[in-house]
Amino acid sequence: MNHPPLIGDRFGRRFPYLRLSVTDVCNFRCSYCLPDGYQKAHNDEFITVAETGRLVKAFAGLGTWKIRLTGGEPTVRPDFVSLAETVSSTPGIRRVAFTTNGYKLPERARSYYASGLRAINISIDSLDPRRFHEITGHNRLFEVVEGVNAALNVGFESVKINTVLLKGLNDDELDGFLAFVESRPVSLRFIELMQTGDNLSYFRKHHIPAAVIRSKLAERGWALQERAEGAGPAVEYAHPAYAGRIGLIAPYAKDFCNSCNRLRVSSRGALHLCLFGSGGYDLRPLLQADDQIEELKDKILSLMQFKRSSHFLHEGDTGVRRHLASIGG
Ligand code: SAM
Ligand code: SF4
Repeated sequence: MNHPPLIGDRFGRRFPYLRLSVTDVCNFRCSYCLPDGYQKAHNDEFITVAETGRLVKAFAGLGTWKIRLTGGEPTVRPDFVSLAETVSSTPGIRRVAFTTNGYKLPERARSYYASGLRAINISIDSLDPRRFHEITGHNRLFEVVEGVNAALNVGFESVKINTVLLKGLNDDELDGFLAFVESRPVSLRFIELMQTGDNLSYFRKHHIPAAVIRSKLAERGWALQERAEGAGPAVEYAHPAYAGRIGLIAPYAKDFCNSCNRLRVSSRGALHLCLFGSGGYDLRPLLQADDQIEELKDKILSLMQFKRSSHFLHEGDTGVRRHLASIGG
């Protein structure tokens, strides 16, 4: 099959990858994200399955081939499986991934796989049950780890663990995390804590650069892997004695945005050109009928001129993002 030319921006970057938030709602209360839990702010309906189908068809027509479903917690949607089926059955979409906190994953992994999902990112910020509870508000570490095992067993092609690196909360757990990937073929990525509108004092207290892990990995014999073409922002390390890999995602690192390959759509159908860009561009009026797809594609293409070269986080610009649950990390 011939693929349409890839959507690009003024800086020569290409965007094969769309992150689609399907809900703002979350059932966890991660201390850096939604410390007080999800608070309903408005009555808008989240993007429907039919709207999602049209959106993804338009992006596929612009060369997008990878979609990630995220949130909030995407799996709290009762129709999550049918959303995933709609996305994965769209012609041109070759990879459908999702990011989850692992809630009920042991019993649900099989149905997720059956819906066409092939890549899963599971968040685990601590392997100490007490700390996990403290960070997420839920005493569910055992269930989430069982969920990782279930995801591997049912055949997910890519299983990744997201670990937000938190000074004083989990930065002494490197060896435990390494042991976790010793026999599991998963990629565990340390994500540097990002400042949002809501977490400034938390950020000041717990932010630690991902670079601190780098020397510790080198001391333990982990080697930096060459970056694959079109790879995302993680730099990856491997070790011959380990089945899994370790990744570092350092959004404050110089040139981080040069490898940006993704666009985002919020759970209310707004296109966000950057995780931290202010505001979004409402696509919803163009998601209402099948005959709007060409107009929708034109609109997306015309908005690409507004994509900036960088997130400007170094300058303390958090955009309007109060927390990442509103758009997906
Ligand atoms: N609820 C799902 C989960 O937690 O995996 C998906 C949405 S969550 C917003 C996506 C990822 O963003 C998670 O791995 C989470 O740990 C990460 N995240 C949330 N807030 C963050 C922040 N301020 N800095 C860095 N990562 C963050
Ligand atoms: Fe929920 Fe994910 Fe935010 Fe945690 S990081 S509160 S699981 S959206």
